Amino acid sequence: MRKLAEKRDYYEVLGVDRTADEKEIKKAYRKLARKYHPDVAEEDKKEEATEKFKEISEAYAVLSDEEKRQRYDQFGHAGMDGFSNEDIFRNVNFEDIFQGFGGGGGFEDIFDILFGGSSRSRHYNAGPRRGGDIYTETTITLEEAASGVEKDIKIRHDVLCPECGGSRAEPGSEVETCPVCGGTGQRKQIRQSLFGQVMNVVQCGECKGTGKIIKEPCHNCKGKGTVKEDKTISVKIPAGVETGNRLRVSGEGHAGDLGGGNGDLYVEINVKPHKDFERDGANLYYEKQISFVQASLGDTVDIPTIDGAVELKIPAGTQSGTVFRLKEKGMPQMRRSTKGNLYVTITVVVPQKLNKEQQKLLRKFAQISGDEISVYKKGIFDKVRDAINNP
Ligand SMILES: [Zn+2]
Ligand SMILES: [Zn+2]
Repeated sequence: MRKLAEKRDYYEVLGVDRTADEKEIKKAYRKLARKYHPDVAEEDKKEEATEKFKEISEAYAVLSDEEKRQRYDQFGHAGMDGFSNEDIFRNVNFEDIFQGFGGGGGFEDIFDILFGGSSRSRHYNAGPRRGGDIYTETTITLEEAASGVEKDIKIRHDVLCPECGGSRAEPGSEVETCPVCGGTGQRKQIRQSLFGQVMNVVQCGECKGTGKIIKEPCHNCKGKGTVKEDKTISVKIPAGVETGNRLRVSGEGHAGDLGGGNGDLYVEINVKPHKDFERDGANLYYEKQISFVQASLGDTVDIPTIDGAVELKIPAGTQSGTVFRLKEKGMPQMRRSTKGNLYVTITVVVPQKLNKEQQKLLRKFAQISGDEISVYKKGIFDKVRDAINNP
């Protein structure tokens, strides 16, 4: 797992604004990469330069990837929690970045720096590798999002083979030390790089970095070390979640390699649209239809909310489009104790069919009123705005 505690802000690392576009980010990174590439640093400053180079490269990898940048903007470094180094750098085109740095390649070297140790003679890490993450999604109702809910999530993940315990060898069979690397899983390689001669340590091809040659692969996992397992996991979904939120279930991803830890499970939440309410963040919106008589004389009506009906007093003379705010009758908010509001928009319905008696009474009404229509001063949108701006 990558360290989160002492990490600096990625934008700060690259010295760019939070609003910087792709081009500015790339330009900033190129400039810094030129300065901090370990091969151009003084001998006694190489280690420092390597660390710095890693830092700027990671910042660039995240900020140049739209999806990762969004996650980072939303959740900070915690949003990258669970991403392996490999995940972070997956979409970075270093060839493109280091084009025009002079000489030929050079960019191949970058991977050794990023994935290797901190010293200049970089080592391929043949040790345990963390298992992959699993991404899945689940759909819940708005009511469930309001109250929080526990959902059973079915997944299929790689677990250590119960027969060989992940060793890949048939239990009791012979396992030899790799004759090519002598069991280290690594091979040294001298390579000419853009910045001079570099000694690299690479994975041993003979044993695939394990340091062992298996004579008889495990029959159960066919020498893979892991097997597929179907599992149902109960996931606690907190109140206030919104569509697109991702929950992390630690350790329920795929099993790691050579004793490395498990990956994580990420569950993306999808909240179903509701028949009565529109949602915008923590606020809910509801349309209440009333008759013109109710609007004229005033009334008390029932309004559904996400946790039961409440009464709303409609004052006499209420106009169509008036918005009432029901304080804290909206959705709860994650990690906060406050709730959103429920906004009720009143729609006054004009009757479409009137019988003789009704028509007669309305004519009489018009006659008494002298056909005066009360002046309607504010538009619907003014009212909505007023209600939202002046709670
Ligand atoms: Zn096995
Ligand atoms: Zn080997």
